[in-house]
Amino acid sequence: MSQQHQDLVNRDRKVTFHASTHLRDFAHGDAPGRVITGGKGLNIVDKDGREFMDAFAGLYCVNIGYGRTEVAEAIYQQALEMSYYHTYVGHSNEPQIALSEKIIEMAGPGMSKVYYGMSGSDANETQLKLVRYYNNVLGRPQKKKVISRMRGYHGSGLATGSLTGLKAFHDQFDLPLAGILHTEAPYYYHRAAEQEGMTELEFSQFCATKLEEMILAEGPDTVAAFIGEPVLGTGGIVPPPEGYWAAIQAVLSKYDILLIADEVVCGFGRIGSDFGSHHYGIKPDLITIAKGLTSAYQPLSGVIVGDRVWSVLEKGTSELGPIGHGWTYSGHVLGCAAALANLAIIEREGLTANAAETGAYMQQKMAETFADHPIVGDVRGVGMLAALEFSADPAARKAFDPSLKVGPRLSAAALERDLITRAMPQGDILGFAPAMTATREEIDEIVARTRAAVDQVTDELTREGAVKAVSA
Ligand SMILES: *Cc1c(COP(=O)(O)O)cnc(C)c1O
Repeated sequence: MSQQHQDLVNRDRKVTFHASTHLRDFAHGDAPGRVITGGKGLNIVDKDGREFMDAFAGLYCVNIGYGRTEVAEAIYQQALEMSYYHTYVGHSNEPQIALSEKIIEMAGPGMSKVYYGMSGSDANETQLKLVRYYNNVLGRPQKKKVISRMRGYHGSGLATGSLTGLKAFHDQFDLPLAGILHTEAPYYYHRAAEQEGMTELEFSQFCATKLEEMILAEGPDTVAAFIGEPVLGTGGIVPPPEGYWAAIQAVLSKYDILLIADEVVCGFGRIGSDFGSHHYGIKPDLITIAKGLTSAYQPLSGVIVGDRVWSVLEKGTSELGPIGHGWTYSGHVLGCAAALANLAIIEREGLTANAAETGAYMQQKMAETFADHPIVGDVRGVGMLAALEFSADPAARKAFDPSLKVGPRLSAAALERDLITRAMPQGDILGFAPAMTATREEIDEIVARTRAAVDQVTDELTREGAVKAVSA
């Protein structure tokens, strides 16, 4: 690292702290830092001009790739005209109107209105408030609990961090808050001993039965909503087992429970359909959108409200007056301008179709390269989302001792090869979510560098005696 780069990192250590970072080690110079200065296509560049191929599109959000001047231009032109006015009490701006029309059209039948925020977390916070409002207006004040899944990811606030079903987001924060529950994760690879021998379809039914048992134990008239990502994201990049969403939805409709589809990752093409809900036949009442909406060129999120909830919200304000909810930056005009430019690129370049086609190529290539690898237990994914799950003994699906930190070592070995992958937070899982622009050649490069990194760590683990001596 150059002196200039080092100096910047040192200034940063003194005055900033970072997400998902060892706070002490970073502040005291014992954990690495890096200053990013630019990017183009799949690649980002740091202060020293070192280029990295980003196989995770930032945090699976830069779906159109880095350095799209067309989006920058749209933001700039809008800022020259008007940078901000609030959207309270009926004020609007033209980009917001056009964007909402576009989103409602894409989301499909039954979807009625969009309300905007700045992040996936705040959008899910809005969802939770709408769910409460809905049942209060319907005169069911006891119907308030929300069921999420273990390993679900829905944000990192107090309420949304409670929805998130990952230990690191709960411990030391006294979460989850009361009234937020977690049911079985749809994670076939991690099925327990008593689920051994189940087919995927049977496991899906098992998940639905667990959900129903929880609803009955809590009392169906106390359960308001269920939230889930079409494909588990941060919890491990896990496509649902066969028949999962049909089985879950049957239970929800039986007990009059709203379904919130958290489409923050899947929305706008990542798995090869406009929405993950379309891909899996999910009929949500409420949809959460963020990341792919602007490809992160501006912070913007939204909730899409379906007819069923909308009619009750209308009734509520007829009886009670204007809704007491709002963010200063809701419908921010620069965010809406960025989103319109982003969606135009996705449409014009056929990126959703590319996520399906080149995504299928990525799945095939990953499977060919890693299916029989001595430390790979599972290769999975859909569209431009993929994961490798590592195992000390793949045949027995045995996990590595967490103290070996196999996941972080693998992503570090990839980084040495100028490849960014993501060590997912719970388990030894490497995640891949390249920009939806990725070509077959770029996928080949990602897979080749990953293979070299995995082989290197396999050799190290073999020498350490953590895996049986089998040559990769
Ligand atoms: C990233 C993410 C969120 C939270 O979005 P932020 O912008 O980080 O608040 C919510 N849900 C899902 C599925 C996500 O992946």
